[in-house]
Amino acid sequence: MSEYGDIIGITSTIPAEIIYAAGRVPLDINNLFITSRDPAALVRRAKMEGFPDTTCSWICGLYGAVLERGIRTVVGVTGGDCAETIALMEVLSLRGTDVIPFSYPHGRDGVSLGMEIDRFAERFGIGIERAEKEKKRLDRVRRRIHHLDRLLWEKDRVLGGEVQLLQLGSSDFEGDPDAYLTKVEELIAEIESRKPLPAGLRLGFVGVPPIISDLYEVIERDGVRIVFNEVQRQFSLPYDGTIVEAYTRYTYPYGIFVRAEDIAREVKRRRIDGIIHYVQAFCFRGIEDIALRRELGVPVLTLQADLPSRVTETMRLRIEAFVDLLHRRRERR
Ligand code: SF4
Repeated sequence: MSEYGDIIGITSTIPAEIIYAAGRVPLDINNLFITSRDPAALVRRAKMEGFPDTTCSWICGLYGAVLERGIRTVVGVTGGDCAETIALMEVLSLRGTDVIPFSYPHGRDGVSLGMEIDRFAERFGIGIERAEKEKKRLDRVRRRIHHLDRLLWEKDRVLGGEVQLLQLGSSDFEGDPDAYLTKVEELIAEIESRKPLPAGLRLGFVGVPPIISDLYEVIERDGVRIVFNEVQRQFSLPYDGTIVEAYTRYTYPYGIFVRAEDIAREVKRRRIDGIIHYVQAFCFRGIEDIALRRELGVPVLTLQADLPSRVTETMRLRIEAFVDLLHRRRERR
C-alpha cells in the first residue's frame, strides 16, 4: 500500500465529514497541486500526456498531483463543479485510480442532495448519523475560521490573504482537523493582539482561487485590503444545520445567481468599494462575469491567468488603475 493508502483525494469541497466518519482521510488535490514544490511541472506532465493546450491549468495540475503523489482513490465532483472533472475522472480511471463520483443536484434541491449524500455515505460503508456526529467535530473548527473572517471584515485586524489560506484549507482540514484547529487558534491569538489596520479601500475577491501565488500580496498594499474571499469563505461552510442543510446553502455548486446573491449581501455588509473577479483561462466560469457585473452595484475588475506563476506587469498595472479609480470614486462620494 502506498503512503496514500487511507487517503481519499477530493477535487472540490464535498461533505468531508463522511470520509472522516469512515476512518479515511480526505485530501484536497487542489491544495496539493498549488502548494507543491513546482506546480508548473505538474501542469506540464498533464500536457505531455495529451491534455489539450486549451485545458484549464487547475485540471492539469490535479491530474499531475494525483499521479505524482500516488493517490489511489479520488472523489470527483461531477455535478455542480466543472465539466472538465468528468473527463479528468475518465483519464484517471484509465491510469488505475479508483474514482468515486459525487454530484450536487441542479437547482439546489435538498431532497436530491439528501439522496446523493446517502448514496455517498453508503459507498463508504457508514450511516448518516455517524457523519452528522463527525460534522459536529468539524463545525468546531469551522466556527473558529468564521471568527477569523469576522476579525477580517468587522475588526480590521488581519489581511484577506492570511485568512483565505485558512479558509481554503477547510475543504479537507489538511487531513487532521485537530491539528488544523490548533493552527487556527494560534493565528487567532496572534491576530487578536494586533492593533486595527488603518481604514483604506475595501475589496472583495470573487471567483475560483487564484493560480497566481502573489496576487493577494500585490493587491493588499498601501492600505488596500481584501475583506471578502467569496469562494474560500464558502469552503468553510458558513452555515448551520445538518449535512444536507449546510451543503444546500453552500453556494458554489449552484450557479452564478445563487453566488451573486451571496456576494451582493456581503458587499453591503462588509462595505466593499470594489470587486476583483478572478477567472481562470479556458474556464467556463469566465462567462459568468457578464452576470456578475450586472448583479453587483460596485465596480468590478476581472483578472485572468493561465499557468501557476506570479503577477505580471500588465496585471499589476491593471490593479493599480482599478485602485486609482476606486479612490477617485470614494473622494466624489
Ligand atoms: S478553474 Fe474552471 S475549468 Fe478549471 S477546474 Fe475550476 S471550474 Fe474547472
